[in-house]
Amino acid sequence: MQTMLPTPTPGGIYSELVRRQRAELQDAYMKGVRRLRWDAARLAAERERRLRELLVHAAEHSPFWRERLAGHDLANFTEADLPSLPILTKTEMMTEFDRILTVPGLTRARISEHISSLDGDRYIDDEYRAIVSSGYAGTEAYHVYGWDSFITFVMQGSRWTGRRGEDPAAVLAQCFSCSARHESGAFYAFSSFEGGGPTSHCFDATLPLGAMVDRLNNIRPGVEALQGWPSLIWELAQEARLGRLTIKPTWVSVAGELCTEPVREAVRSAWGIEASEFWGCSEGTYAFPCGVGEGMHVADDLVILEPADADGNVVPYGQPAARMLLTNLFNPVQPLIRYDLTDAVTMTDEPCPCGCAHRRILSVNGRIDGVFKYDGGAVVPRADLEQTVVATPGVVNFFIDQNHGGVDVSVVTDGSTDLQQLRTELSDVLGRHGGPSTDVDVRAVDSIKRLSRGKTRQFDTEAV
Ligand SMILES: [Zn+2]
Repeated sequence: MQTMLPTPTPGGIYSELVRRQRAELQDAYMKGVRRLRWDAARLAAERERRLRELLVHAAEHSPFWRERLAGHDLANFTEADLPSLPILTKTEMMTEFDRILTVPGLTRARISEHISSLDGDRYIDDEYRAIVSSGYAGTEAYHVYGWDSFITFVMQGSRWTGRRGEDPAAVLAQCFSCSARHESGAFYAFSSFEGGGPTSHCFDATLPLGAMVDRLNNIRPGVEALQGWPSLIWELAQEARLGRLTIKPTWVSVAGELCTEPVREAVRSAWGIEASEFWGCSEGTYAFPCGVGEGMHVADDLVILEPADADGNVVPYGQPAARMLLTNLFNPVQPLIRYDLTDAVTMTDEPCPCGCAHRRILSVNGRIDGVFKYDGGAVVPRADLEQTVVATPGVVNFFIDQNHGGVDVSVVTDGSTDLQQLRTELSDVLGRHGGPSTDVDVRAVDSIKRLSRGKTRQFDTEAV
C-alpha cells in the first residue's frame, strides 16, 4: 500500500490562501445572513435542490455512495425520500472513509498523518482542511472540508452574531480548544488571522484553572463576552463569586456539553445574566438561539436534520428524539447522508416569534449513545443512566463508569445533591434493565478530568 505523506502548506502560501478565503467569506456571510430571512417554502426548495446535487455528486465520485444509492432516482429525490436510505454510523464512516470521500488521494491514512502533524491551521493541497472530533464516547472521527465548504461552515458559525442579544464588537474570550486539530481551534486561527475583526482570545480548556483566571483577568481591553464548555463556565463562575476572577462579561455562551441548571444558576449569580446556549458539531452544523423564541434555530438552508428514535425511525417534531440524522448539503468532499449524530434532542417546526423560518432544536437532552453490557446478558442504555444523573438537583457535571456489579459515578455538585437518593435511583435504572446493582458507587468530586481537547469525559467506555 502506498502511503502518501501530507503536504503542509508553506507559511507564505498559507497567508495568501487565508487572505483569499477570508475575502470570499465576506461575500458568503452576506448571502448567509439574507437566508436567515427566507420563508419555509424557499428553504425547503433550497434543501431539495442541494440534496439532489449532493446525491448525484456522491454517486458519481464515491464508490461507497454509488453502491448505497443504486436504484434510487437521484435527480428527482426529495427530502421525504430520505428514510428510504440507511443510516450512516460514525464507525461505518471511519471504516469506509476512503470509499466515501469524493476526492482521489484524500485517504484516511493521509488525513490521519496530516492531523497528527498539525502545529497550527494548515491546508492540504492548498485547498482542504481536516479536523478531528472525539465526541463524548471517545471515538475519533475525521472531517474534511473543501475550500467552499469550509467558508460555508465558518459563515454558519458567525451569521447569528449580533442577532442573539450580544454586542458583535465585544472583546471575546473563548475557552474550548485552541488546537487546529479541532473545529474551534481551526476556526479561531482562520478567523483571527491578521486581526481585522473584533478582538478575540483563545484559551485552551485544559489550562489549569488558576492560570486561566490570571490570564482572563489580565486581558486589556477587558473581556466582555465569554464562551466555553458549561462545566468550565461553572468553574469560572465560582472563581468570580470568590472574587478571584474579576472580568465582568455581559454575554456568556455555552456549548459542547449538557448545560445543567446549576451552571445556569452559577452564571446568574456570578454575573447577573442568563447563559446563552448554542449547539454545534464538527460534522458541519450549528444551531443558535435567536433570543426571542425558545430553543436554537438550525441551519435549514445548509443541512437536513431528522430527529429519530433509538431504532432510527423518524420521530415527529415536538417529541423527544434519541438521536439526529444529519445530511450535510454543503460538503461534497465528504458526503454525510443520514449520518448518525448521537445527540438526543427535541425539534420543532412551529413558527418562531422572531420571524425566522429556520426550524429549531427546543432542547438538547443528552449526547450519549450505546449501552453497558453485564455478565448474564443484561444491557443497560447509557442514556437512561445519564438522564437520571442529569435530572438530579444540584448536579453540575458527572462521570459514569461501568463496573462488575453496577456503576461508578462521580459528580460535581453545588453542594445540594442528595447522593444517597441518586444511588437509589441508579440502582432502580439498573434493576429495570435486569442489570446488577450490588455495586453502585456515587461520590462527589471537585472536578471531572478533561479530554485532551478540554471537553469533560462523561462516560468512560468506547461507543458500542
Ligand atoms: Zn427565533
